Amino acid sequence: MMHIPSRHIGTQAQRHLATLLLCAFGTFVLPHAGSCLAGSQTQATWKAGLAKVVITPDQSMWMAGYAARTKPSEGKVHDLYAKALALEDAQGTRLVIVTADLIGFPREFRNQMEKDLSRRFELRPQGLLLNASHTHSGPELSTWRATQTFDLPPEQIPLIKKYSEDLQGKLIELVGRAIEDFAPAQLSYMHARAGFAMNRRSESERGYTIAPNSDGPVDHAVPVLRVDGPDGKLRAVLFGYACHNTTLDFYQFCGDYAGFAQQYLEEAHPGVAAMFISGCGGDQNPSPRRTLEWAKQHGRALANGVEAALLTRPHPLRGPLRLALEEVTLELADPPSREQLRQQAQSADKYERRHAEDMLRELEEKGGIRTTYPYPVQVAQFGNDLTMIGLAGEVVVDYSLRLKAELAGTPVWVAGYCNDVFGYVPSHRVLQEGGYEARGAVLYYGTIATPFAPSVEERIVGKVHELVELRNKPSSSPVKLVARAHNSGFAQAHDSYNGMGTGSDGKIYYALSSESYEVGAQMFCYDPVADKIEHLGDITEACGEKDSRTIVQGKVHVNFVERDGKLYFATHVGYYSIVDGMEKIGIPPQGYKPYPGGHFLAFDMAARKFEDLAKVPHGEGILSMTMDTRRGRLYGLTWPTGYFIRYDLAAKELKDLGPISRQGENGKGENYRTLCRSLVVDPGDGSCYFTTGDGDILRYRYDRDSIEVVEGDDMRKDYFGLYDPTSPGHMAYNWRQTIWYEPEKVVYGVHGNSGYLFRFDPRTPQVEVLDRMTSLPSRRSGMFDQFSYGYLGFALGPDGRTIHYLTGGPVYADGRRVTGKTKTAMGESKGIENLHLVTYDIKAAKYADHGPIFFAYSAEPTPPKRLRRPEAAAKAGQNGRRPSYVNSITVGKDGTVYTLSRITEEGHTRADLISIRKNDN
Ligand SMILES: [Zn+2]
Repeated sequence: MMHIPSRHIGTQAQRHLATLLLCAFGTFVLPHAGSCLAGSQTQATWKAGLAKVVITPDQSMWMAGYAARTKPSEGKVHDLYAKALALEDAQGTRLVIVTADLIGFPREFRNQMEKDLSRRFELRPQGLLLNASHTHSGPELSTWRATQTFDLPPEQIPLIKKYSEDLQGKLIELVGRAIEDFAPAQLSYMHARAGFAMNRRSESERGYTIAPNSDGPVDHAVPVLRVDGPDGKLRAVLFGYACHNTTLDFYQFCGDYAGFAQQYLEEAHPGVAAMFISGCGGDQNPSPRRTLEWAKQHGRALANGVEAALLTRPHPLRGPLRLALEEVTLELADPPSREQLRQQAQSADKYERRHAEDMLRELEEKGGIRTTYPYPVQVAQFGNDLTMIGLAGEVVVDYSLRLKAELAGTPVWVAGYCNDVFGYVPSHRVLQEGGYEARGAVLYYGTIATPFAPSVEERIVGKVHELVELRNKPSSSPVKLVARAHNSGFAQAHDSYNGMGTGSDGKIYYALSSESYEVGAQMFCYDPVADKIEHLGDITEACGEKDSRTIVQGKVHVNFVERDGKLYFATHVGYYSIVDGMEKIGIPPQGYKPYPGGHFLAFDMAARKFEDLAKVPHGEGILSMTMDTRRGRLYGLTWPTGYFIRYDLAAKELKDLGPISRQGENGKGENYRTLCRSLVVDPGDGSCYFTTGDGDILRYRYDRDSIEVVEGDDMRKDYFGLYDPTSPGHMAYNWRQTIWYEPEKVVYGVHGNSGYLFRFDPRTPQVEVLDRMTSLPSRRSGMFDQFSYGYLGFALGPDGRTIHYLTGGPVYADGRRVTGKTKTAMGESKGIENLHLVTYDIKAAKYADHGPIFFAYSAEPTPPKRLRRPEAAAKAGQNGRRPSYVNSITVGKDGTVYTLSRITEEGHTRADLISIRKNDN
């Protein structure tokens, strides 16, 4: 009551402005700049129908939203409404959007509506989008909440039940009327802004509390979908805003700011329906709040935002409508133990006590507590002109900001409070920070027993991408893929080659390399379910050389092979000296002894322990390795000379079979040969195959314990190019990367420089060139990739038949291919290029380029404070723009592709884990 004079002036001024606008454009209800554009350029290919119904309870009843209420409602400020917009595209696909001045639609309510609407109007589930304004001045809908949380007087329960049942009937009828109202229409999209939403999560000594935070992320966009008749006359505006509808906390029914915004728009445009859609306002509050005047002012501000949007150039929406509604399973944090629950059930806080009792009951009745939640995600695409995303629950603003950044290109409208308002949906950031939206609110909702697991954001965003991409198949130009950067906390990490694997436990194991002589490679494990990175250990320490003052084990240059719960791999030097432009093992600095030689190591996944198996001789690193898991044999090639080494697990015996290709990369002139980066075992007879730079295929014979040249075919094919094997800086005729494909008992591999996929059948023996695995633009340009050795990230996916390959694609500037160095004497990128994900389905013989990969958003577990605004983080992630120096790959059990790349954040470049979701269809 203290600020009446100034508020009054403000309101009057705004009314005056609205009048001026109307005068400036004549008596027609709307500025018709929009109608000219929309009307003259597009045919009315849509049908639209509208209906509204008053849903104000006809008697006093309990109000929703605040647990602290002490009595039922006392009258109303204005009526509450439910409104429906029914749309049909030229193909007959229907979408019905229902909005309401209510706290939120529970899942069971929607399920019942879905059934009835499907029966009565053949409306498909994906064609129904329910959104509630989240007004806290409407009736309570949940009898569960009424009894479990709010402890209402018993006579309120039947009232809530009755209201909910009546509402169901009213909404079915409402949808029916909207469909009956179908008439030709034009749709267009536009947007403006409104500024009254403020982030409500503030950091204090007690953690995050609810208080206005002017530094927190917000989304002030006001998206508008405009419905016009064929004559350009406005029929409806559907508008959104990301903010809790909680200006008020009194006892009169009221639509709060969203109710006033709709009222003001309908008053200004008689006969027009104004419908409000809640955005991702889970962590946003209107500010200031708590008086009816403020609710009106915010309503006015939002209505003005809509009016402002209507003055901008409209973007016509063409069809077709593409609709998707799917559930994604969200993991919850581990439930407390029975003992912890019993303790919590003694709590002085009644909400905590009841929550514990509830969980104990579930434990008794069902033998366990729910650990997942089926979360509905809805996507409605209006051709390529607008993507509308409907997320369930009280979604925090990070989702809207992230999805808009990641799906940039087409306008994106992200709505929260859709279809199932079961509780809060924190982002990874909010979950890490804690507070009400992260965990506190779980007590009041009761629908999920424990807070979400850290994977919540990736699961939801992943599902949105899947649905958007599914409906948006790439045609001739591949869509871009989005890479997420992870932070392992190893700032010195340098370019890594191989050093990855997906364990049978579903976790991603990887080693990050270092160029330092005193800090070596580090091994990590990423758990995609918990979205957590674990540091497993220091590789030098695992080799027992921690304080030996020898040059450290700087790299793991080989992939992990699993056998009996252990991961087998080998170590390599990371500290180099450049001699004549070529890399040599680093000359030890004062006080340091030379590199002692690479080790074969094992890591026990259950015990989380390393085992040092053996060290190779000659002080060389281990460049390539494979394992015969049936016979318990490890095979390796050393660098720089190229000794072939085998290690037998049972006999604990290491044997050196000597250099396999002149003096390898240690030789000069006539004695120089690039060494093969890939060994492969035929598990049938235990042979181990590899190549030389001259193009010979060599075979280690298990039965004879010796190496021979495979007679009959070789790698000297015209398609691979012409090489002088005595010159460095290329892989010559060598294999770059190979896999054993058991169904055909053959080797599939890629030739590095040309990027040709081949098949090697050791029985015939025959090398068959299959397809060029490079990116589509590289295939078209006919040129090799910029990476001097060709790319190394080549692996089978979890289906056992799809090869995944990370390879280059040319970057064009002003229509010309950007070229780099023409020559180099080592493994490096000769110039910039895009990174593409290419797959090859062996069974179907089908090549697919999934498109170039870019960083869109850096989701670090603990981003630096000033990067907490997702827009800023997105900018920082853009520093690196595209992943580079990518020569590793592993594919997770869910198909997510993992690799190690250079990442630049805040001016510092490191190598680290990145993950890429591919579009399968
Ligand atoms: Zn809320």
